[in-house]
Amino acid sequence: MNVLEPTTFLLRYHEIAIKGDNRSWFEKRLLDNVNKLLDRHFAKEGLPKRPFRTWREHGRIFVEAIDSPELRDVLICNFGMTSFSPTHIVPTDLSILKDRAVEICEQIFKTRSAEQLKGLTFRVLTRRSEKALKETSTEIDCEVGSAIQLKFPELKVDLKNAKFTLGIEIRNRRSYIWTEKVKTHGGLPAATQGHLLALLSGGIDSPVAAIQLIKRGAICSFIHFYGAPFIGPEALEKVMALAKIVNRYQPKPQPVYVVRFGEIQEEIAKLVDPKMLTLLYRRLMFGIAERIAAQINAQALVTGEALGQVASQTLDNIESVSSGRAISILRPLIAHDKEEIVDLAKKFKTYETSIIESADCCTLFADRHPMIRCSIEKILKVEELISLESLIQKGLENTVAASAT
Ligand code: ATP
Ligand code: MG
Repeated sequence: MNVLEPTTFLLRYHEIAIKGDNRSWFEKRLLDNVNKLLDRHFAKEGLPKRPFRTWREHGRIFVEAIDSPELRDVLICNFGMTSFSPTHIVPTDLSILKDRAVEICEQIFKTRSAEQLKGLTFRVLTRRSEKALKETSTEIDCEVGSAIQLKFPELKVDLKNAKFTLGIEIRNRRSYIWTEKVKTHGGLPAATQGHLLALLSGGIDSPVAAIQLIKRGAICSFIHFYGAPFIGPEALEKVMALAKIVNRYQPKPQPVYVVRFGEIQEEIAKLVDPKMLTLLYRRLMFGIAERIAAQINAQALVTGEALGQVASQTLDNIESVSSGRAISILRPLIAHDKEEIVDLAKKFKTYETSIIESADCCTLFADRHPMIRCSIEKILKVEELISLESLIQKGLENTVAASAT
C-alpha cells in the first residue's frame, strides 16, 4: 500500500449487542465518536480541511485516512468496536478479486522463501452483505483460495486455525479485501450511559476504574484531592497527565476538579488520632465529591478500590468511608487482583505514567498503620468534633476545574 494514499479502514463491532431498533442508534453513536476522536487527533496538526472521511455501510463503519501508528491508536481508543482492518478496495468482479487477492499475497509474502512458506496455514473468509455476485460466500472462498494456492502451493488450507486470513467483504459496487485484523477493546460506544465523577489519584487503580466505566458507555469527569502545600506540583502534573490519557477514550475530554486539600488535612490532623486520619480523609473526599457531582449532574462516583488491597479497603472500611452518602459509588475493580489491574493499566496505556514516583495526600500526617475497622458511631463523634460540614464547604471553595486535553 502506498503510504501517501489514504487507506480505507473497516471497523467491526459486536452484532449481538445491537439487534433490532438498537442498531441504528448504536452505529450512529459509534460513528459520531470516531469522528470526534479523529477531529481532536487531527486538530493538533492545524490542517485547513478534515483529512479523513467516515461512513456507515451494511453493519460496518469505514474510515478513510492516511495510515499511521497514531491514527491506529485513535481507532483503538474508540470503545464499542471489536476490531478493525486496513483494506484494499477492488471492483466487485470475481476475476478481478482473484487477481487482486493473489497480488496482495505476493506483496505480503515477497520477502519469504518457499521454505519459510511451507506449511503456513491460510484461509479465505468472504462476507457477502449484498448479493452482488451469483456465487455464494463459500464458493468465492474456494475460487479465491484456489487462485492463491496455485501461486503459492506451499500454503496449507485451514478453515479453523489459519495463521493467515484473507478476508473479502462483497458489496454491489466495490468490495474490500483485508489481511490484517487489529483487535480493539470492545465495550459500548462512550457517552451513551450518562455522567460519572471519578476520584482520580496518581495510582494505578483509579485511571483503570474510570476507563472501565467509559468502556461501558459512561462519561467520566474527574476529581482529585491535592495535598498542596504539603505535596509538590509534580503530583498534580501526574494526575493531569493521567486524566489526559483517560480522556483519549472519551469523545469529549472532561475536566479535573482539583480540590486543594492539604490545609484541610492539616486542620483535621491537629484534632484526630493519626490511626483514624486516612479514614476521615476518605469520608471528606466522598462528602466533597458528592457535592461536586450534584453541581455537574454526575449520577454516581467511581473509585479504584479493590477489596482487601490495602488497610483502608477492608470491607468494614469500604463500608464506613461511604456510609451516609446518598450518591451511588461504583467500584469496578472491587474483585480484581493487583496483577489484573496492572495488565489493564498496560493495555489502556496508563501504567507508565501511574508508576512515576509521587506522593498521595491520603497518607499525610497519618499513622503508617491505619485502623482496619472503626465503628460508625466513633466516626460520627469525631466528625462532630472536626465539624465535617464546614470542612466540606471549605473544600468546595478550594476547588477549581482544570482542563485535561
Ligand atoms: P490508586 O492506585 O487508584 O491510587 P490505591 O490502591 O492507592 O489506588 P487508595 O489510596 O486507598 O488506593 O485509594 C483508593 C481510591 O480512592 C483510589 O482508587 C481513588 O479512586 C481514590 N483516591 C485516593 N486518593 C485520592 C486522591 N488524592 N484524589 C482523588 N481520589 C483519590
Ligand atoms: Mg492511591
